[in-house]
Order: sequence, then structure tokens, then C-alpha cells
Amino acid sequence: MTSMYHISDLKKFNRCPRLFLQSQQDEKMPFYSYIRMDEAVSDLAARKLGVEKPFVGALGDDPSLALEALKDHDWLMKARFEYGGLRIKAPFMHRNGDAWELYFLFTGLYPHNNDMELYCDTVWVLEQNGIRLSDVMIVHLNEAYVREDELDIDQLFIVSRSLYNFNNNPTIPFFEEIRKQMKDPQETIRKMSECTAETLREPVRTNKCAGRLKCRYYDSCFPNEAEAEDDSIMTLIAAKHRYQMEQEGLLYLRDADVERIEGSPQQYAQILADRSGGLFADKMALQSWLEGTVYPVSFLDFEWERYAVPPYKGMKPYQVLPFEYSLHILHADGTVDHKVFLSVHDDRRELTESLIRDVPEQGTIIAYNAEGAEKIRISEMAEQFPEYADVLLGMNARMKDLQIPFISGMIYDVRMRGSWTLKQIMSMMEDPGYSQLEIRQGMDAVFQWRQLDRDEDVNKDEIIDDLKKYCGMDSWAMVVVYKWIRKCAGL
Ligand code: SF4
Repeated sequence: MTSMYHISDLKKFNRCPRLFLQSQQDEKMPFYSYIRMDEAVSDLAARKLGVEKPFVGALGDDPSLALEALKDHDWLMKARFEYGGLRIKAPFMHRNGDAWELYFLFTGLYPHNNDMELYCDTVWVLEQNGIRLSDVMIVHLNEAYVREDELDIDQLFIVSRSLYNFNNNPTIPFFEEIRKQMKDPQETIRKMSECTAETLREPVRTNKCAGRLKCRYYDSCFPNEAEAEDDSIMTLIAAKHRYQMEQEGLLYLRDADVERIEGSPQQYAQILADRSGGLFADKMALQSWLEGTVYPVSFLDFEWERYAVPPYKGMKPYQVLPFEYSLHILHADGTVDHKVFLSVHDDRRELTESLIRDVPEQGTIIAYNAEGAEKIRISEMAEQFPEYADVLLGMNARMKDLQIPFISGMIYDVRMRGSWTLKQIMSMMEDPGYSQLEIRQGMDAVFQWRQLDRDEDVNKDEIIDDLKKYCGMDSWAMVVVYKWIRKCAGL
């Protein structure tokens, strides 16, 4: 019997045969989306396209069902087709005379050409089934849409005949590009069916293992790396030649061949830390970063949910809804106050007003990754509630990013093991930190909050308590790390 594969299998095989094989053998992991999609985006898109009386396919359908539906339906949704060992799902098909229009659904904002494999293989399977396509389009969410009281489906989506370039301009003709890039996948499918544990070579590190997305099998492929010492050369950040250096016996950060590193300030800080007994601190640079810090110093952290389809008035697709903040306030005499706000459902106005009450009118505000998170959240609040814009933007003007000393190479401790997260840095401190919490990751906090927001049958008091402790730890960790930085700066 011929094996049947999905496009996702093909994609994995092309990335790495070992990854493909391991994922075939693994039990399917439950999937938790970072993006909230309570509403079935495909049903909303069907309304945009004017889909009427469709044939609707389902997981595991025999492909003869979709072929049969082509005879007496004008619309097909999620129809399953197969050819040559490859199984695909066609999101939407609409009869156009004796041909068909195919619509892909992209649930993000700007479809680029990184999913071309999926588009090409889908068209290939349809055409091998004798289906003539007159046009191929892509339906995606409209970044410019702002929701009013009701969802406006027509404004929510854009139907495009182009993919978008890096500047998010629609410049790549979609159907033409598919024609250009489409190829027969059968040779790859044959190799996939012959792929077994016996035919695989030992894992070899390539840029497919730990690029933008670290492979989920990385630790099992390279177990030695997880056990490496804190100052191993393997912790050298974004260093293309670290594997080669390790094989040549340059085992530690202090041994790194500076001719073969990319030369980032972080890399130099790592090497200098190992050459100085474990810690590198550029006192002058740290003092300069700390200069101008005014008491009381407020340490601020937000938690938020991100929705694909805006659920509330004034929100855009993929806009976030802050639901919690924690604020630790460090006074000049060393005392610390703590304030926390947690809402269930949409309480943006209350959260904004509470924040304005809680943040002292004077003093520096500190956040970890302020530029990429807290400052953006506060600017969004200023846009949503213009009557508070002055005070909110004033907070942003007083904000310092605690990540800067780390990512600009002013300070590094080998116990950070090549990671610059607040949790990793906190793990070096003499403070129980996150280890005693029920919720330990930002996304866990979001998944827990979702249960509250959806009114699920859960112990709500316990979740609220855990969320407060988790977010509270993020702002407390900043107090601890800030004090440590001051000490390292000799202050
Ligand atoms: S870590 Fe690398 S070698 Fe191992 S499965 Fe992933 S991509 Fe393949």
C-alpha cells in the first residue's frame, strides 16, 4: 500500500529527514496557539467570499467525496484531494464556468512567499486530478481594519491576487509565482516512504536545527549540548563557527578564535566574562546607563492576550488586549511597594486608569524589553484613550529598558548560558525566583487567563492567585536584577 502524506510532512522532510521521521513516530502533541482564534476564521472568510450551499470537507475524508462534490456544487470548502501519495486540503473553491477559482486562507496579516511549498503542492494535486484552475487568490486579515460595535466581515478581510514583499506591499503575482515554482513532489514522496531509522545518518548540526525556530528535537539530537558547562563555547550566541571550533578543541568561551566570531558586543562580553573568572561588567558603561535614574524607581510588567479577529470595539486584527500589570516601586530608602491589576474579559479602561493611579508621578520606570513591549502597550493605551495620552506618553518618556545593559554587551555572567531572558538572569540570583511558582512562563499565564475569560469550569480564585504571583515575579525579578547591576557598576 502506498503511504499517504500531508504537505506538512513534506515540509518537515525537506527541512530534515530525521525531523520528519521523529515526528511520524511521535504521538501528536496537543496544539496551543499563541494567538487567540475563538471564532473560526474560515467561517468568517466564507461570509466574505459569499460562499453558498458549499460541500464542506472534513479530516480523514475519502477523496472521492470531494471529486463527487465537484459535479453538483458551486462552492467547496476544506475539500480533501489526493494524488501520488500526497493529500491536500483546498480551503475554498468556486466554480467559474468549466474551471475553478481557488482561494487560500492566510490567517495572518500579510502573506509572504514563505509558504510557497504549500500553495504549489496544493495546486499540483488539484491539477493532477484534472481540475482546471482559472485563478488563485489569497484571503487574509486586513491590518487597517478597526472594529466598531459589530464585526464588519467585508472590512475584516482582503482578497488578494498578490503576495506581499518585505515592506508588506502587494507586489508578487500569486498564481504566476505558483506556476514558476511548482514542481512534481513525487520523487521526494518516494524518498519519504523509504526513510527509516536505519537509513538515517547520525544527526549533523545545520542552520535548519537552530535558526529562527529551534527544532523541537534539538536536545535529543545533541544531548551533549544541554549538559555543556556554563562557559562552553556552545553557549556563544549566534556564532556560526562554534561547532567547528568545538571540534577543533576550542571548548570554552575563553578559547574562542576572535577571527572567526561575528564580533557582536554580546559575544565579546561572553568571551571576556570567561576570561575574567565568570563575570564581565563594563563599569563605566553601566554607570552611564544608570545615570539619570530617579527615585522612586518603578518596575513595570504587562501580561496580554493577542487576538487574530478583534473581539472588542476599537481593536484591530492581531492587536493585543492587556489584562494584567504588576508594578514594584523601589524607594530611595530601599523600601519596596507592590501593586497589581488583573482583569477578566475586557477592562482596558479600568486597567489604564488604575495604571495612571499606581505609577508614581515622578521617577524612572523600568521594564525588561521595554522597547518591544511595555512602551508599545502604553502607546496603544494612549491611542485608545486620548484623554490620558499626555500622562501615558509621559510614562514612556521616563522609561528605561533593563535589557539594554545585557544585549549591548555591558554585562555578562557565564551562568546565563547564552540566554538573555529575565528568567535566566534571575536564576543566578540568591532569590527563589520563579522556581516556586505554579505558572512559570508568559504563555502559561495567557493559557490560564483564557480559561477565566472563557468562563470555563476551573478554580478561578486559584488561577487569579497564580497569575498575580507570576506577573508579580516578573516585576520583582527586575528589582533584584537592577540592584545587581548597580552592584556590578560599583554603586
Ligand atoms: S535538530 Fe537538526 S538534525 Fe535533529 S531533527 Fe532537528 S533539524 Fe534534524
